[in-house]
Amino acid sequence: MSFQVFGIPVSRGVAIGRAVLVASSRVDVAHYFIGEDQVSAELARALRARDVVALELETLKNELPDDAPHELAALLDVHLMLLHDDALIGATKHWIVERRYNAEWALSAQLEVLARQFDEMEDEYLRERKADLEQVVERVLGALAREQGQATSDAASVAQRDFAGEDPLLLVAADIAPADMMQFKRSIFHGFITDIGGKTSHTAIVARSMDIPAVVGTREASRLIRQDDWVIIDGDAGAVIVDPSPIVLEEYRFRQRQSELERARLARLRHTPAVTLDGQAIELHANIELPADAVAAVEAGATGVGLFRSEFLFMNREGELPSEEEQFVAYRAAVEAMKGMPVTIRTVDVGADKPLDRMSATELRHEHVLNPAMGLRAIRWSLAEPSMFRQQLRAIYRASAFGKVRLLIPMVAHLSEVRQIIEAQKRVQQQLSEAGHAFGRVELGVMIEIPAAAVMLPLLLRHVDFVSIGTNDLIQYTLAIDRADEAVAHLYDPWHPAVLQLLASSIAQARAAGKSVSVCGEMAGDPAFTDLLLAMGLRSFSMHPSQIPSVKQRVLRADAARLGGLIDSVLASDDPQRSAELAFGSQRTAGLVQ
Ligand code: PEP
Ligand code: MG
Repeated sequence: MSFQVFGIPVSRGVAIGRAVLVASSRVDVAHYFIGEDQVSAELARALRARDVVALELETLKNELPDDAPHELAALLDVHLMLLHDDALIGATKHWIVERRYNAEWALSAQLEVLARQFDEMEDEYLRERKADLEQVVERVLGALAREQGQATSDAASVAQRDFAGEDPLLLVAADIAPADMMQFKRSIFHGFITDIGGKTSHTAIVARSMDIPAVVGTREASRLIRQDDWVIIDGDAGAVIVDPSPIVLEEYRFRQRQSELERARLARLRHTPAVTLDGQAIELHANIELPADAVAAVEAGATGVGLFRSEFLFMNREGELPSEEEQFVAYRAAVEAMKGMPVTIRTVDVGADKPLDRMSATELRHEHVLNPAMGLRAIRWSLAEPSMFRQQLRAIYRASAFGKVRLLIPMVAHLSEVRQIIEAQKRVQQQLSEAGHAFGRVELGVMIEIPAAAVMLPLLLRHVDFVSIGTNDLIQYTLAIDRADEAVAHLYDPWHPAVLQLLASSIAQARAAGKSVSVCGEMAGDPAFTDLLLAMGLRSFSMHPSQIPSVKQRVLRADAARLGGLIDSVLASDDPQRSAELAFGSQRTAGLVQ
């Protein structure tokens, strides 16, 4: 039966495919297709892993001390029974043989099917056996990973082994941590649906950077959608249509083709300089997460990198931080790929909804840190870990010998932080000179993401070369709305007069001081805000490469001088969005992602 689930649209477009339900804790299980000739070997792997676990459980049982509670032996019996039940490994075969999933993926797919059945059981005792089943599956996944001689998470295998000819697959999960999203970059999934998250949560940002349709904050999609259901993701409307009728399917296929044509049309603007009708040159820079993204940035026509979110180099490393050398190689790769165009490297911004390891933001919020969005994150963490910070600065400076590098500091709120950064810069330059390392001139910039920084901007501007406005956090902290919390997502409002005042005054003050200013939050990549930002005097935008063509189209059609004359009336209005629509003659001042 067809039904719909609604959530928050975070990455536009239409995706049609089969649902792959993945428990949040198992998002890092390797998902790849196997060839027809590998089916029997993969079946054998699954059976071998089952036998290994059976032996483990038998041994545990036999070695129980005499005085062990007898419930323990009974529990091990239950686990053995579940392990040998045909509904587990037997049914896992179906996913390997029919769908060509690798063994780990097949096993977790089958677990999701069985978990749903357990959830629906009337008998409480039986319902609770779901936890036992999960433990058994964890053991089998562990055995498979050990056999493979690697950790269960293997991003490379996920990313590379696509299998043409299969139905497209859409990932459905309660939550996906940003670190796990990175594993799905260039993966087999054509779209994402999650129960939690907001428009500018980092999971949403990574989905947008991958340019694939996504809907977050659906609250219950992972409970309502079943493994293998046919699903449509309408990333423009934030709707998920499950088991669609043939007519609806045809309509969406048509829309899919239309948006592909539109993309192809916009891609032709790649080499067109971004200049407004009245001749103002506009910088369209790219936001990247990994050095390899610089290639997409150049292809999309970016004239620089406005935000390299370096924290993604620090994720999925099981607590170990990247060395200076490793970071240097990564930064140099991005700098070289940009061929002389500027690369703005932001120092590590972990914390809040970007934990270093796989722990989700929800877990962090509930169990470990009182209020991670306001805690020891970004520059606060860097200054609290001086040797980590020095290593990162050294790596960034060394990369500056290979092209134009700018240093950007996140979450600055105090002048004392800027002073410490400048001191650290000096020390690093001296150390590098003494060690004979080459480096170029590195401009220093701070992000304006905390209202305090926007309010005291004239003071900050005395010490830095440029500023970059992070509207994602600036909105979050100005309105006291957690950007990742779907419960307050309706209050996360870029059109709020307080947000607009801070934005307009920051842009004006930076320009008056003769310092360069850009916006690198999600507003910069949303054509609904291009006229508004141009009207405020912004001439530098940084966004995901995939957003550059549609923002460029908007720039080409804008008269910046005319827009500038209209901004005061918008800022003075009770309803700035409506006023902007009337004043700019824009039809598109609605969403944050459309
Ligand atoms: C921002 O806050 O707007 C920003 C660009 O930084 P991030 O989204 O990584 O927090
Ligand atoms: Mg930020």
